Amino acid sequence: MKVFKVFAFLLAAVAVFPVTVALSGESAVFSNERFVQKLLDGNKRYVDGKPSHPNQTPERRRHVAKGQHPFAVVVCCSDSRVPPEIIFDQGIGDLFVVRVAGNIVDDAGLGSIEYAAEHLHVSLIVVLGHERCGAVEAAVRGGEAPGHIKSLLETIRPAVEKAKGKPGDLAENAMRTNVKMVVDHLKASKPILEHLVHKGTLTVVGARYDLDDGMVTLMP
Ligand SMILES: [Zn+2]
Repeated sequence: MKVFKVFAFLLAAVAVFPVTVALSGESAVFSNERFVQKLLDGNKRYVDGKPSHPNQTPERRRHVAKGQHPFAVVVCCSDSRVPPEIIFDQGIGDLFVVRVAGNIVDDAGLGSIEYAAEHLHVSLIVVLGHERCGAVEAAVRGGEAPGHIKSLLETIRPAVEKAKGKPGDLAENAMRTNVKMVVDHLKASKPILEHLVHKGTLTVVGARYDLDDGMVTLMP
């Protein structure tokens, strides 16, 4: 019983301070599998309508005010229906979030992710696309877009071109292709992210959010 309590305490301690030091490749893989599961478990609670709203107390707020140790970076769309902390049932200080319409990553977004990976030692990045994404659908429709929306759509268009000709819905395929391209872009990004991926201390995965049932599914 005593041993179990100590083990449980250690697990809890690791959960609160996930990665405060650089991990070796093997332990990082172990941690990342656990962090992915933590996100999926939270998403299941959300889908089932039984969120536990972890880490949202005044104590947690005061604790993380001294410093942040998020366990994952989430790159997702600005869409108001895809708030990461809610759909993954997480709290304050848990997720380092980069949100731009169409879950694309520009240089400023990349710098934010590099900061999380290099300085906060976050070892898991989730690129989260979602169904019926307005930005992707606009890129699929094509044509001229006003103002700076133009540059947003131009960033998504290569994914649309790549998805053309595949069986099924073009907007859905383009969204998935866009997520995959962002994942590949992050993995190959020099000098910081590519180095960490190569070392085995950083994992980048793609995922899809279903607007209807709220479920997050990892992409192969
Ligand atoms: Zn969207």
